[in-house]
Amino acid sequence: MRGFTFPGLPARVVFGEGTLAQLPAEMERLGMARALLLATPQQEAEARGLAQRLGPRVAGVFAEAAMHTPVEISERAAALARELGADGTIAVGGGSTIGLGKAIALRTDLPQIAVPTTYAGSEMTDILGETEGGAKRTQRTPRVQPEVVIYDVTLTVSLPPALSASSGLNAMAHAVEALYAPDANPVLGLMAEAAVAALARGLPRVVAEPRDLVGRGEALYGAWLCGACLGMAAMSLHHKLCHVLGGSFGLPHAETHAVVLPHAAAYNAAHAGDAMARVARALGSASAPAGLHDLAKRIGAPVALRDLGLKEADLDRAAEIASRDPYANPRPIERAGIRALLQAAWAGAAPG
Ligand code: NAD
Repeated sequence: MRGFTFPGLPARVVFGEGTLAQLPAEMERLGMARALLLATPQQEAEARGLAQRLGPRVAGVFAEAAMHTPVEISERAAALARELGADGTIAVGGGSTIGLGKAIALRTDLPQIAVPTTYAGSEMTDILGETEGGAKRTQRTPRVQPEVVIYDVTLTVSLPPALSASSGLNAMAHAVEALYAPDANPVLGLMAEAAVAALARGLPRVVAEPRDLVGRGEALYGAWLCGACLGMAAMSLHHKLCHVLGGSFGLPHAETHAVVLPHAAAYNAAHAGDAMARVARALGSASAPAGLHDLAKRIGAPVALRDLGLKEADLDRAAEIASRDPYANPRPIERAGIRALLQAAWAGAAPG
């Protein structure tokens, strides 16, 4: 057997229906008595409702979390946390809100409780991507890892079906890439395969019946495992492409992941046979790329980059940027192959 390192699960995880009720107890465990509550403007009403229920345990609400964690917003939030004498943060929302909690932790070392309401997975990682002056800088540091994660299935029922579908495939991408990561390990492999299977079961139910807690539970459980994959394994071609398409061409995060995943899998398929067999098995499909593409179509996720606003004229530059710096990937990064992958993803063609 090949040797491996299992880095361990980074956070205490509380999972279930109605688990938000355990927030006061979790705060107490952490010694958190006056938290700053974080949200996006879109989820401000829910955050204010929660603040009211928590009473004096909440020092204030900051509801300006935004995509890609702009430094200017994080600095204002950190200043508010200091001014209010907050002794921790509670982020209720998706990757944007959880990113804000991490950015505050980077500046203040305040402990964090993350309450994810999408499937993005940021809560399980020590990764923070921040933007300043149009440039995104990503770093890994244990300082930004949330201490406690509360997954409450009931908080995800309001996630619109379209966002649920793309967010779920965004999550699945972490598990697919963890299966062929250079630092993959057997335990993470079990988690990744279970994650793909849970999302493949849950997402069609979620899209058909967004309030169905069984489907929501499967999807959120899968998303948790996917977040752990992202936190523990190095990501490869798929994440690199999405980073380029989001960072240099302004494409939306989750939707871009949804489109690219089957094509990145097809690019790597012949060089990552075992990983692809496990993905296919978890999807109940004969082939991983085809199974991923079929799932995306079945749940109404976007399947073409052109539908996300990318111009065909940008494909050359995207291929150039994505193949510029070397990074670990099962199949060597070849510019022509990447260009062909992007063409197929742009047009919404079948992968491979
Ligand atoms: P998001 O957090 O931007 O949320 C999208 C929108 O959906 C927001 O308006 C939000 O308020 C709303 N929303 C969230 N949950 C909802 C719910 N249950 N009901 C109704 N509306 C809801 O989107 P996201 O895809 O979760 O996160 C994307 C961001 O997270 C990106 O900036 C990405 O870079 C980052 N991210 C970081 C990591 C990491 O490890 N650092 C991992 C994944 C994603």
